[in-house]
This record gives sequence, C-alpha cells and structure tokens, in this order.
Amino acid sequence: MKSKIWLSTPHMGGSEQKYINEAFQDNWIAPLGPNVTGFETDLENYLSNKNSFVACLSSGTAAIHLALLQLGVSKGDEVICQSFTFCGTANPITYLGANPVFVDSESKTWNMCPDYLEQAIIDRKSKGKTIKAIIVVHLYGMPAQIDKIIDVAKKYDIPVIEDAAEALGSTYNNQKCGTFGEFSILSFNGNKIITTSGGGALVCRSIEHKNKTIYYATQARENTPHYEHTEIGYNYRMSNISAGIGRGQMEVLDKHIGLRQNNNKFYNEIFKDIDGISVFAEPSSQFVSNHWLTCILIDPSKSKITREDIYSKLLEENIESRPLWKPMHLQPVFNKYPYYGTNISEQLFKNGLCLPSGSKLENEELERIKNTLISLFND
Ligand SMILES: *Cc1c(COP(=O)(O)O)cnc(C)c1O
Repeated sequence: MKSKIWLSTPHMGGSEQKYINEAFQDNWIAPLGPNVTGFETDLENYLSNKNSFVACLSSGTAAIHLALLQLGVSKGDEVICQSFTFCGTANPITYLGANPVFVDSESKTWNMCPDYLEQAIIDRKSKGKTIKAIIVVHLYGMPAQIDKIIDVAKKYDIPVIEDAAEALGSTYNNQKCGTFGEFSILSFNGNKIITTSGGGALVCRSIEHKNKTIYYATQARENTPHYEHTEIGYNYRMSNISAGIGRGQMEVLDKHIGLRQNNNKFYNEIFKDIDGISVFAEPSSQFVSNHWLTCILIDPSKSKITREDIYSKLLEENIESRPLWKPMHLQPVFNKYPYYGTNISEQLFKNGLCLPSGSKLENEELERIKNTLISLFND
C-alpha cells in the first residue's frame, strides 16, 4: 500500500518544541502563562490592525460562542449565519438558545450573498423577529465580499461576526481577514493553516472586550481573593503548552501560506486545459486567498468524469480528498430553521471537491497526485 497523502496535516516549523520546553522549565503547565500572552501579541502584530485585541481560547467554536454571548444573544433571538460552512460556525448559536437563520452563498467567493442577506433581514423583521448578529465566513481561505456584507449590516444596525477560521493571512483590499468584524474568530485546529493541536482565538475591537472574553473563558471569576461569581462562565482558555506551539507556528506562517498558494498554482496547471473542471480562484485582485484548501468544481454537463470518479480514483491511490462542506440548511440537525437563497451552496456541495493542500506536501507526493489526476483524463 502506498503511503497515505492527507488533505491537510500539521506542519511544524522547528521552534515549537523550544517554547514548550520553556513552559516545562518554568512549570507554566496551565491555561495561562507567557506563551499565551506571547501568542496573543504575535497574532495582534500579525493582524497589524490597531484595533485587534486577541484572546486565545480552547477552540474557534468557543470563540464564536463568546462573541455571540458578548453581543447579547439569548433565548429566542435570531442569528443570521452563512449556510455554506463547517458546523462550528452555527452550533454556538444554539448553545445560547437562539435560532439560526441560514443564508446562501454567491458564486464568486462561495461566501454569504449580500442580496440574500438583505432579503433575510427584511423578511425576519417583517415577521417580528430580533436579529442579534450576522456570521459571515471566509470559506477555504477565500475572503467574502465583506465590504458589501458590512454595508448591509450597518444599514440595519446588526453587528457582524467574522469567521476567519480558515482565512488567517488572507486579505481583502490589502486588509487582513480577521480585522473586519465587530468580533472575528480564528481556529488553530489540527488541519488549519497553523495549529496548536487544538485551539482558537477571539479577535476583539477593544481591550475591554478582550478582557471580558478572558473573564468569560475562565469561569467568570470576579477580582476577589476568594472565588466570587456573579455570572455564568466557561472553561475556554488556551493552555500555555498549546500556545507554545502557536508561537513557533507564527514564525513560519507566511512561509506556509506561500506553500499552500504554490499548491494552488500546481493544481491550476494540471486543470487549465481540462474541460468542465475549474479550480476555485479569486474573483479579482482585491481578494487574496491563503488557499488553505484548493477546491475544484466539476461541471457534469461538460466533464466526462464525475466528482465521484475523481474521489474514488484518488482513494484507490491512498490519496485523501473531500467533498465541500455540506450546507447547514441541508443538515438534519438544522433543516427546520429558515433559509434564504436558492441552490448556489447546494450545487457547490454537489459538484465540488477539496484536494490535498497541506504546506507539508513533498514533491514526490505532488507527483503522485498529478499522475493520478492525469490518468483519469487519459483513459
Ligand atoms: C474549523 C472551523 C471552525 C471551528 O474551529 P474549531 O477550532 O475546530 O472549533 C469554525 N468555522 C470554520 C469555517 C472552520 O473551518
């Protein structure tokens, strides 16, 4: 059996171990410590936006939960959410007893459609509903049409939460994803652009919100010598060990983004002359994707082969690929909630495939992928 080629794997830069060793030497084996503070500072500098205040947490999902909480989302409220995403975007809405309202994507960026968003707002309001927040995602690293989304949100005075879990290092009009929303979230799960083995961050627009986030993430403990609690909190802080990995990863972040962008060029080269298959690409130079995962779309009316053919052939060669995210409005757990849009995300789900895209892919592995793909079109 040939060795497995994964979709996206962790890729250590080398100094992660050093930061972990320091944590051991100083006995900072806790959900606080110098690596946590250091990683937060690194991220704030990287986002290089004077209004980015980062709180490191145990996951990106926890970050969305604490963003919604701080926007006052509670039982019976509605939160508008991009349907085409991973469930971590939507699940926290229900943790607070609120109801998601799903919105379709547009075909340029595959992210939330500003027009369907406005339709949804108008219709929900006409039904007497209170919309507390909008969650927009930069899926697969592709920036959403964030200026248009923010314009609509401003018109109706609804705060935007920006899910940049897959988009660290991507930019829109030269501004980094993770700096646009009232709150923005990042993820450092195992297969993301950088990893802390598991973790996330909430990017806040004020130091007060950052402090409040840390307060909620550490069981809402009041500032007294004994443990005094006036609110319900959560155990969501990042550990000093994980943050040590994060600090090492920050040293190689831009290099690893470059490698993923090279993978994207590699796939463009393979598919450029193949009818009916398009590689997902930036709609204009305003958008720069980190190309976290390279995705292809198969047009079944033009292509001789189907998504399943490609998926199965790769699997046969022990190469992992994956259909695009199944839209939330189609998920059994969410299909009772309102949905605004047509079939854009449904079509993407039906005809799209993510290809191996990790920054750690070796040349021989890329060769194997290329030969396998080419063999499909030569048969
Ligand atoms: C990974 C991911 C999340 C959740 O992050 P975790 O750290 O895994 O909780 C949220 N949204 C999107 C789009 C993601 O890809």
